[in-house]
Amino acid sequence: MVAAILLSALAMSVIVGVRYLLASGGFALATRIRQPGLYRGLEKQMGREIGWSLASALIYGAPAGVVAWGWQERGWTRIYSDVRDFPLWWLPLSVLLYLAAHDTWFYWTHRWMHRPKLFRIAHAVHHASRPPTAWAAMSFHPWEALTGAVVIPALVFLIPIHVGALGCVLTIMTIMGVSNHMGWEMFPRWMVRGPMGGWLITATHHQRHHDQYNCNYGLYFRVWDRLCGTDKGLGDFKKVGA
Ligand SMILES: [Zn+2]
Ligand SMILES: [Zn+2]
Repeated sequence: MVAAILLSALAMSVIVGVRYLLASGGFALATRIRQPGLYRGLEKQMGREIGWSLASALIYGAPAGVVAWGWQERGWTRIYSDVRDFPLWWLPLSVLLYLAAHDTWFYWTHRWMHRPKLFRIAHAVHHASRPPTAWAAMSFHPWEALTGAVVIPALVFLIPIHVGALGCVLTIMTIMGVSNHMGWEMFPRWMVRGPMGGWLITATHHQRHHDQYNCNYGLYFRVWDRLCGTDKGLGDFKKVGA
């Protein structure tokens, strides 16, 4: 049994690592095409980002793998696979609840990690990317990776979710984690600068966190930042070659 649990944890780490390489690699390629030269001179930094991210994949995979084993073998968790087990409207609502819960956890642990002592121990690695690139999505010190790794494995015990909806949450998490760091905005201007962008976080918003540190702490939504007065609005990107 212990071997099966360890194997599941290891398999999940490999999956998370491969997912990272594909997602970050894909967006790095898109950056090459859309913003040629944007990452010029950042090769060493990108190497470090990949190293920290792969270490984070190992940490993210461990609790996820243990919970996945428990789900399959012991009936743990509130993940369901028959879509008729809950009303259909629960599908989008559960996705939204997962994102909101993750966002809340992230906002407060992130603010906490900006206290000087903790910053040096846990969060400086993430901010060593100046400016961040598509490879920085999981570039965290192991302490920080640990705070992120427990969220979804804990939520599946609390909030019922269809396995497909969970896949949707993980996809959004991956895409936003990468695109928020890639150094340019992929969403249309009407969305980012319009009413929707007032509440949703995309690359332009997170860029300002990496520029100024003491604002824009959120992950998906600007709700906590706006409620707590830490939202300093959208950032801007340095022009290539400037
Ligand atoms: Zn960041
Ligand atoms: Zn930060």
